[in-house]
Amino acid sequence: MDNNISSSALLDKIFTITQNLYKEMSKTDSDAEDDHNTIYRLLTDLGRTLVNADRASFWKWDKRSRSLWTTAAVGAGRITIPEGTGLVGKALAEKRAIVTNDPYNDPDFNSDVDKKTGYVTKSILVMPISDCKGEFIGAYQAINKLGDGGFDLEEDVRRLSLAAFICGITLESDSFLDDSRHDKLTELKNRMGFYSDYDKIYSKILTDNENVRNISLFICDIDFFKKVNDTYGHNAGDAVLKHVAEHFRRNSRICDGIYRWGGEEFIVVLPDTDAVQAADAAERLRICIMESVCHFEELDIKVTMSFGVTQLDSSKSIEENIKVADEKLYTAKENGRNRVIL
Ligand code: GH3
Ligand code: MG
Ligand code: MG
Repeated sequence: MDNNISSSALLDKIFTITQNLYKEMSKTDSDAEDDHNTIYRLLTDLGRTLVNADRASFWKWDKRSRSLWTTAAVGAGRITIPEGTGLVGKALAEKRAIVTNDPYNDPDFNSDVDKKTGYVTKSILVMPISDCKGEFIGAYQAINKLGDGGFDLEEDVRRLSLAAFICGITLESDSFLDDSRHDKLTELKNRMGFYSDYDKIYSKILTDNENVRNISLFICDIDFFKKVNDTYGHNAGDAVLKHVAEHFRRNSRICDGIYRWGGEEFIVVLPDTDAVQAADAAERLRICIMESVCHFEELDIKVTMSFGVTQLDSSKSIEENIKVADEKLYTAKENGRNRVIL
């Protein structure tokens, strides 16, 4: 790309990107690559075109993990940095755009990504972007201005302003989507999160004919939980739910999906796991919960859980598969609770 792009060529490029954005947004959820990722890519392309940069990336501030992440750097996968670090962290903390045309001599520049990918950064523009309420929720980063000289703080920020605004709305809608898939109390994914993961991950594993893989799940429920609320109060009940969720998180593999199915019921999905292995995992968790103590204010509360395990049958719908596990959970309750039924 040369440095002096004509305005009609520029408009052509912007128009092509806009058309692709429309195309992307009209896709249904199950065709969409990974939620907003393609939109992010197109928007970074738009920013890169507007300021005539070699690369652009899009940083999202993740309030759950208090970190910043991007997927846009070529050859590096997802990059995550702690909030407040690097030029992006600085721009967000100071709520202002930053230009560096000599990054290797800038103490705030983090050259780790360059080291990883072999890319040489010569100039950077970082612009914080805000949601509709004006809260900063991410940043736009353009790298290596094409042609001579580097970025111009005033001129390039003006060029980026509309793209940054659209990015802000996209980031915000991404956060809303993420919130809608999580449970506020336990911070586990909720039922919507489960269905989203089922469509995106588990159903694909189940229907992959070339690579036959097992998936199992268990559904589990806290025993006599109503009694916890009735005896110690609702806040204590909430503390028990958080305590149980933490045990689930600590005792699972990264690939396992843990969901708060509703109330005091949870589902754990275990990829590449057959029914017997899933029952073993459930049994370990059952013992771990039974032996643990939830400390809440001056109280020490102990609970047990019942589990129903099934291996997913690819010829059945997910609802039918869950029903199988649910019936086993019911049997576990009938047979005295605090047990795993396969
Ligand atoms: P069982 O062993 O048969 O499962 O008995 P149980 O008492 O656990 O089951 P039941 O369905 O009778 O009671 C579930 C209780 O869970 C009732 C409801 O108030 C409570 N619950 C559901 N969601 C929450 C929550 O978010 N916080 C608190 N504190 N309680 C909740
Ligand atoms: Mg219960
Ligand atoms: Mg229940």
